[in-house]
Amino acid sequence: SVPRFENRTVIVTGAGSGIGRAAALKFAQEGANVGLFELNPERAEEVRQELEAIRPGSALVCEVDVSDLEAMEAAYQAVTDRFGGLDAVFANAGINGAMGPIEHMELSEFQKTIDVNLGGMFLSVKLAVPHMKKRGGGSIVITSSVNGNTRFSSIGMSPYSTSKAGQVAFAKMAALELARYRIRVNTICPGAISTNIEETTETNERMEEIAIPLEFPRGGDHPLAGRHGLPEEVADLAVFLASSEARHVTGASITVDGGESLL
Ligand code: NAD
Repeated sequence: SVPRFENRTVIVTGAGSGIGRAAALKFAQEGANVGLFELNPERAEEVRQELEAIRPGSALVCEVDVSDLEAMEAAYQAVTDRFGGLDAVFANAGINGAMGPIEHMELSEFQKTIDVNLGGMFLSVKLAVPHMKKRGGGSIVITSSVNGNTRFSSIGMSPYSTSKAGQVAFAKMAALELARYRIRVNTICPGAISTNIEETTETNERMEEIAIPLEFPRGGDHPLAGRHGLPEEVADLAVFLASSEARHVTGASITVDGGESLL
């Protein structure tokens, strides 16, 4: 079969680990040039080397914080200068961030999660628009989470859940607005996936005050999923949505959780 991303350029944010890394590898396998946007340069360099082995010269590392406007402007410029345009963006970088009682949470802690997960997504979409207009269209995929729904979140995760619910609303507004430019915008809502994201949880010392033992029907012992998902299982959906196979799909929010949100 013809590679779906031959002569195409894709930006992947949070490309150094987990879902972003898996997607970057798949995009490269499908012939894409890939901008690897990542806060952690060591992780990004490892992924660049993996892509180099698949398609020499196809990866460009951009060490950025997705919530930093100037760094993001420079990185979008670097990618489009290097590869000559932009066809798809996988706005995937995210953190769990502050976890704890709202009463004892600092505004700055709340804002950090919002800045990265919502601000970073906003910039990833905003900066794509002029380049995709030039191309006559494009596709943007955003990694949200089933966690935007209280049933699949955890007490104490209010900033994260707020950001993940907000991503779905934003994506629908963007899909509506950008359809005139033939830019599609969709969200993916993964369930529990085996990645490094737990490292980004900042648990407040007073967390135990609200941590009541609730048995959530999810995760490894879930009767339907039976296991955590793999980053590759989310990446396959991201690559599909980014590709022209999904040309009639926009404003959609697609769950990839092995069925865990059915209960
Ligand atoms: P991960 O931590 O393995 O990978 C995320 C990558 O993003 C890391 O390499 C990290 O360095 C990078 N990153 C973090 N903040 C950044 C910033 N400000 N700028 C640039 N890069 C940054 O986690 P993952 O699970 O692959 O997460 C990817 C996305 O999937 C996130 O949006 C997350 O909310 C979402 N998600 C994850 C799960 C899960 O169970 N792992 C479930 C649902 C949704």
